Amino acid sequence: MSTNSPAPRGFIVTDPIAPAIPAAVFQEGDAFALPEAPDNHLITQSIKPCPDLPGRLAIHPVGRTAPFTIRADELLLPLRMLRPFDLTCHRCSRTVHRVIDLVLHGTPQLWICGQCS
Ligand SMILES: [Zn+2]
Repeated sequence: MSTNSPAPRGFIVTDPIAPAIPAAVFQEGDAFALPEAPDNHLITQSIKPCPDLPGRLAIHPVGRTAPFTIRADELLLPLRMLRPFDLTCHRCSRTVHRVIDLVLHGTPQLWICGQCS
């Protein structure tokens, strides 16, 4: 994942992500660990609903031969979740596109661009 926009300078306010979040929130490319094996880092190659098991997801981690199933509301430990955001400056309404790691940086709530901060 990449962005063509230069990294915006300025000031950003974020909400930290919870230490454990439901499996349903994860997407392809996210890194996570199971609570019972926090040191075993997994990267999601695919995640999709189980066709014959309602309320469960099949997660196929990179490097594993087969997916495992998990309840959609079961909590996983997020390690890396890159998400694209369009940040709009609170003061001048300038918008930039930026990919942010929710685990590292949190969810953006407010951005003030380099010219306004
Ligand atoms: Zn601005």
